[in-house]
Amino acid sequence: MPYKLFVVLFSCLLTACATSPTGRSQFIYMSDSELDQMGLQAFDNLKAEKPQSKNSQYTNFVICIAEAITHETGGDWEVIVFEDDSLNAFALPGNKIGVHTGLIKLVDNQDQLAAVIGHEVGHVLARHSNERMSQKAAVSQGIGLVSAVGNPTSPLGQLAVSSLGIGAQYGIILPFSRTHESEADIIGLDLMAKAGFDPRQSINLWQKMDQASKGQQPDEFMSTHPSHDTRINELSEHMPKAMQFYQQAQSIGKTPHCTK
Ligand SMILES: [Zn+2]
Repeated sequence: MPYKLFVVLFSCLLTACATSPTGRSQFIYMSDSELDQMGLQAFDNLKAEKPQSKNSQYTNFVICIAEAITHETGGDWEVIVFEDDSLNAFALPGNKIGVHTGLIKLVDNQDQLAAVIGHEVGHVLARHSNERMSQKAAVSQGIGLVSAVGNPTSPLGQLAVSSLGIGAQYGIILPFSRTHESEADIIGLDLMAKAGFDPRQSINLWQKMDQASKGQQPDEFMSTHPSHDTRINELSEHMPKAMQFYQQAQSIGKTPHCTK
């Protein structure tokens, strides 16, 4: 092995370095299988605690959009619509997607919900939960963290579920950083466009979410996925590239018609 390559590999092993889909260096300590296990456990907990929607139109709407988007990522994804009026959606390692009925009521069209689901899947693809746990001194507690998801009200359990992005359910909110939000926005924008959804609707969606979260109730989604002043600018800057993906998708017949 050439000496330089050896040095690079060795230093990566020491620092647990990884690269995100947008080319950013990441500190990733835990294994993907550990994160998947945590995501599965957390999703099972939610399914046991929260009622699922019986509205088949809503469920079909969400599944139609999620299938088109996850077709672009590959893998089998489980999608559940929860009966909950809060404006929320999330995706977990282990390929799990949850959408609240409140968000379905808010969106005007398939493209706006595709923007949220794309953003959420973007967090998973970029391994943001792993990075959050790795940053929070998980080095000595990695194994404990995995099992702590089963006890989400314990201090370690709270660290685990909040790093997964669903801590609000258990009274603890850990907002994604601006770096993570920007990255999920860009990955999500490309994903929705490649699936044949109009990426321009992402801007309408974020404006709508901002407006809606100015109500009296602090909104769970906007607390864990904080908006920032530059979000719309960044989306607009990236829009020409996303529009190319959108037009390519349309030219090969990817034209989803998901209705609620
Ligand atoms: Zn986010």
